[in-house]
Order: sequence, then structure tokens, then C-alpha cells
Amino acid sequence: MKSAKIVGPNQPLAMTQTETPRPTGEQVLLKVNSVGVCHSDLHLWEGGYDLGDGKFMKVTDRGVKYPVTPGHEIAGTIIEMGDAAAASNAFVKDDKVLAYPWIGCKNCPACDAGNENLCDTPKSVGIFQDGGYADHVIIPSYKYLAKLDGVDEDAATSLACSGLTSYTAIKKANANLPKYLVIIGAGGLGLMGIQIAKAITKSNIICVDLDDKKLQTAKELGAEYVVNSKDAEQAQKQIMEISGSKGVDSVVDFVNAPPTVNLGLNILRKRGNLVLVGLFGGSIELSLVTVPLKAITIQGAYTGNYTDMVEILKIAREGLINPIVSKRYQLSEANDALQALKDRKIIGRAVINP
Ligand code: NAD
Repeated sequence: MKSAKIVGPNQPLAMTQTETPRPTGEQVLLKVNSVGVCHSDLHLWEGGYDLGDGKFMKVTDRGVKYPVTPGHEIAGTIIEMGDAAAASNAFVKDDKVLAYPWIGCKNCPACDAGNENLCDTPKSVGIFQDGGYADHVIIPSYKYLAKLDGVDEDAATSLACSGLTSYTAIKKANANLPKYLVIIGAGGLGLMGIQIAKAITKSNIICVDLDDKKLQTAKELGAEYVVNSKDAEQAQKQIMEISGSKGVDSVVDFVNAPPTVNLGLNILRKRGNLVLVGLFGGSIELSLVTVPLKAITIQGAYTGNYTDMVEILKIAREGLINPIVSKRYQLSEANDALQALKDRKIIGRAVINP
């Protein structure tokens, strides 16, 4: 089979040809029809995360081993199943499925609670084991598959990560029934977040980004207000005016870098709720007394569990969300796909069709 592998940080992906693996036990072999190009693939490609103050968290310190095939947003066709997978009768050959990539150890409190995405020692597909930048992929168990049942394959890919993450983040942001909900970052996650917020909340949505083109798309998807944050002070003033000077109830930060988190904290009203999602990274200084005095909640959101993925797939099937796929690449163009995302040239999602 053909794969595009990350061989080391910031090095061009290598096209490799290896024998197509045969599935055993609960494993399933998929022909990859579409794989989303997620910003997290870029972090994997760059070798880690910016922790701020000149510090860097290497993905290899988190258990990633290069070379690795990226791609965790995988929609494909079942080609072959291991004995146990076939005996389960859950799927048949040629079924079109979406793969849940956030695979856990099955032996920690998070896995016990069904939240494999929060596992202590994750084994996620496309990060810790080979993923979908390939024409075939092994999924470790049929239990991680969900039938597409009519959802478009390219659109479905993002529901395994960006749609899933946006869904859980918006659910967290909706805990205080926000009148005003700010979504920072109108990229793959943020644009999905707007659609999900339209579907499951009653909030007025204010979308923030640096790029007017992306803000225009945000507006078309239903954001009531859009704010360009190139001038942070002006953006803060604009948002305070929109919210009647009290500040907004919830902020979901799909960037999560110093300028966006500072903006989020400055526009949050008393009892407000800040959900940090992005992995752009860095660090901030936090005025500690404001946290109890304003009784604000600051929380993180990391992907979602299998049940969340099935729920968001159902929401897509009902037509309530429509993931934007603006660019399609061949497998041999994997480097171009990552570079275009890095250069902020992608609206919504790009996919690779191996
Ligand atoms: P993307 O590149 O598609 O979009 C990022 C958007 O943020 C772009 O529209 C860009 O213009 C905007 N932006 C960048 N810097 C900004 C700033 N300072 N102020 C305002 N807007 C700014 O990325 P994506 O695929 O949407 O992913 C977003 C982040 O979320 C990435 O760091 C990704 O790794 C992370 N992520 C987190 C999870 C999780 O579970 N927590 C899951 C998937 C992705």
C-alpha cells in the first residue's frame, strides 16, 4: 500500500510503498476514500507544541514515534475484517464507515468511563499509530467504526476530529445557556463550531478571526456578528458594545494563543465560561483574583468520545450541519496540503482522496 509518512519534524513527507496489512481478531482493513487535513497534523509535522517562554513540548516525548503516517479523520470502505470483527456481524464488506481515531488503553479511569479520548496513554490512529494519509489503514477494532449511512465521505471526515471537538466544546460552552457566545478562530474547527452552535444553542454568535475572508464565511454560516481582531483593543471594544457592556457569557477559543486568550478573558462577563480548544500555544499572565471575583470557569476540551461522534454524525445526517470541504488533494500532494493549511489558505477543511 502507499502511504505519505512524516519521517521527522519539518521534513517533507515521504511516499512509501509497503505490503498491505491483513486484519486479525477485531481489526478491520479500510480502503481510505477521504482523510481530513487537520491542523493537528501540522503540529505532528512540526514536532510538537509551543508551551510559551521558549519552551516546546515534543510529540516524541508524548510517545509519538517517527516515521508515522498522519491522518486521523478517516472515511473509508471496509475491505477485510479479522475473525472476531466478522463474527460480530456489526458490519459487512463494502460498508462505508467513519473511523473513531481517539483510541485509549482500556485500562485507565477515562477509558473505564468511555472517554478514550482522555486516556492516560493514548494510542490514537494517525498520531501514535499509522493513520489515513495512505490508500489503506488498519483500524484496531470494528467497535471504533460508525456507518456513514448517506453522509458524504469528504464531509464526514471532519466529524472524527474537528466536528467532534467543536461539538463537545460547544456543549461545554452552552452549560450556562449563553446569550452571547464568542467563537475565536474561523478555521476548520471554528466554522464547524458556528454551525453546531446554530443547531444546539440559542446564542447570538460573535465570530473572531484575523482574516476577513474567513469571517465572511462565518457570517454566511450564521454568525450574527463578526469581528476582526488584528487590532485587539478595537476588537475588545466592539465585542463589549455588542454585548451591552457587560461582556459575553461564553467564549470558545479554537486558537488558544496569548492574544486570543487575553481577548477571551477581557470580554468574559461575571460567571462567564472560557473553553480552550486550540493548540497554537504559548503562555499568558493571569490576574488571579479576577477568577474568583468574577467566578469564571476556564476549561479545556479535547476531541470527544465515540458516542459524541455517533451523535454528531446523526446531526450531519439530519442536515443540521454541513462541513465545508473547499479543497481536495491526491495522496502524492500531501506536502502541498499541509503547507496550504500552514499558510492559512484553506477555508474550512481540505481533504486528501487517496
Ligand atoms: P485552522 O488552521 O483551520 O484554523 C485556525 C484559524 O484561526 C484560522 O482561521 C486563522 O486565521 C485563525 N487564527 C490564527 N491565529 C489567530 C489569532 N491570533 N487571532 C484570531 N484568529 C486566529 O485550524 P483548525 O483545524 O481549525 O484547528 C485549530 C486548532 O485546534 C489547532 O491548533 C488544532 O491543532 C487544534 N485542535 C484541537 C483539538 C482538541 O481536541 N483540543 C482537536 C483538533 C484540533
